Amino acid sequence: MNFAALNHIVENNPELIEENVPAGGNAAAAVGVARRLLGINGNVDGLTENQRYHYENYIRPLIENVSCTGIFSSEGEDGCVGGGTIDDEDLEGCYILDEMLCQECQNVQDRMRDD
Ligand SMILES: [Zn+2]
Repeated sequence: MNFAALNHIVENNPELIEENVPAGGNAAAAVGVARRLLGINGNVDGLTENQRYHYENYIRPLIENVSCTGIFSSEGEDGCVGGGTIDDEDLEGCYILDEMLCQECQNVQDRMRDD
């Protein structure tokens, strides 16, 4: 669990959680669970079974093992030059920049910008 990233999402971009909830699901409840998690310092054990369902399905994918979107996105390929996932320590920065790139892709992109 990346608490800093969770905090950033809830405060600035709760739509990311809502978008994970399928039609017919309770998007407001999922955001509510995220807020509750912040209130209990990210202690998942403090959630009810129902809340934990929201966490596992709609919130956790945003703050753990998040996929890199890649920089060379072409047909059929994700375009990531690194390991495919974003390091935990880089995750909050990715949300702040709104660029979901792993360190390797970030480096390549920086180099391309410099050229
Ligand atoms: Zn990447």
